[in-house]
Amino acid sequence: MEEIILLKLGELVLKGLNRRRFEDKLIANAQRRLRALGKFKVYTKQSTMYVEPQSPDCDMDRAYEAMSRVFGIVGLSRARACGKTKEEMLEAACSYLGDELSKAKTFKVESKRADKTFPMTSIQLSQWVGGELDERYPNLKVDVHSPELTVHLEVRDAAAYVHADPKPGAGGLPVGVNGRAVSLLSGGIDSPVASWMIAKRGIALDMVHFFSYPYTSEEAKEKVLTLAKELTPWCGRLIVHVVPFTDIQEELRRSCPEDLFTIIMRRFMMRIAAQVAGRVQAGAIVTGECLGQVASQTMEAMGVTSAVTDLPILRPVVGMDKEEIVTIARKIGTFETSILPYEDCCTVFTPRHPRLRPTEEECRAAEASLDIDAMVRAAVEGIERIKIDP
Ligand code: ATP
Ligand code: MG
Repeated sequence: MEEIILLKLGELVLKGLNRRRFEDKLIANAQRRLRALGKFKVYTKQSTMYVEPQSPDCDMDRAYEAMSRVFGIVGLSRARACGKTKEEMLEAACSYLGDELSKAKTFKVESKRADKTFPMTSIQLSQWVGGELDERYPNLKVDVHSPELTVHLEVRDAAAYVHADPKPGAGGLPVGVNGRAVSLLSGGIDSPVASWMIAKRGIALDMVHFFSYPYTSEEAKEKVLTLAKELTPWCGRLIVHVVPFTDIQEELRRSCPEDLFTIIMRRFMMRIAAQVAGRVQAGAIVTGECLGQVASQTMEAMGVTSAVTDLPILRPVVGMDKEEIVTIARKIGTFETSILPYEDCCTVFTPRHPRLRPTEEECRAAEASLDIDAMVRAAVEGIERIKIDP
């Protein structure tokens, strides 16, 4: 066990009594992501999570990648384990960080001493190793305020560890600690980002997709499944509930005023999503709606859309500009799929002049002739559940 991954835990260290639950969830989430990459030992100690390979065939590069997408982790570093003497730590630093040490101009050594039986103080250890490195590398100058390179030494119970500055982790809270929500996943840019943002706050997701075959194609559905797959490194395993939506859309086209078509359709989406939420014990509905982006995303439209369910509707991108959403989509890896040119069910029967300020009374009147319960029931009964593994 030469090299290990050290992960710095985020907000969960603040959570007092809940801490054990948070850590257990985080460990379970990490272990699931590592399963295909070899045999690893994962445990937490002193606000740090350790990922230790247990056999030589462990894929450390991919493990490191995978851990950078686990919510609840704010920083990660690969570290070299070595014996607990100052000489061994110096040699480990030189061999493990040799490249960085010969390139940097300024550096400092920072030591942590969790093993209180270690015979030097942290400051003494930093000074001694820093002095030796300063002599060995003529390119290096000590700068304790803003060094280019910080050599971290950690003396712990089992061993000492040497590493460079940690990289930023995914942040947030471990998926699952804050319950479950259903997320409406279209093929667009916004809804994968919205899903990611809610998962980041510790919420496990079930995805719901409304599918309007043959108005929308098999490829459009495949695209949504691909987006779900691209979210799994962050969210863990997902179930996509594919709702047959064609009958409802055709019925609404027959019987609703054209200018209210989209809004009534969205009310049906919420009713169906609420039923799915009931089945999977979810406490909220997530959408990628954004204020003012399209006619169905005015305050009034959101108001009448929300009115059909008691569940909270979470709209994490509601105040973001498209640019900001795109930046996240690129970062999380969904953007390229989102811009593939397949139609969405929302674009199938688009009214020429959609109502911007619909009222609840108008929506009720437009829905008066419909057997809403039967329509919702038929759609829910037709759901196809597709498991998406990371
Ligand atoms: P996106 O980029 O996420 O598709 P959008 O800007 O195109 O969003 P709309 O098409 O009005 O906006 O959809 C708003 C939200 O409604 C989406 O973000 C998504 O959460 C949900 N939604 C729309 N179409 C579908 C669909 N076919 N299946 C599931 N959810 C959908
Ligand atoms: Mg869309």
